[in-house]
Amino acid sequence: MTTTMGLNYIIDCRRCGSHSEYQTSIAVKNSVRTNLAEHIDTECAIRCPICRARLNNSAAEFREQVKISLRE
Ligand SMILES: [Zn+2]
Repeated sequence: MTTTMGLNYIIDCRRCGSHSEYQTSIAVKNSVRTNLAEHIDTECAIRCPICRARLNNSAAEFREQVKISLRE
């Protein structure tokens, strides 16, 4: 059973210094819904929309540069 959730990404890129936001939606298993903020996908690249630097080379880099909030 999965749910589609809206996510807001707030990105502070270390490489180009830009601040940007974007919204996306993903399908998640209900079982991971409550700890989604803890779940960081490092297989699928998340990139800065300005300079295309990859933000999730590691979970630590991702946490420094990206804040995720849920959009109900
Ligand atoms: Zn950038």
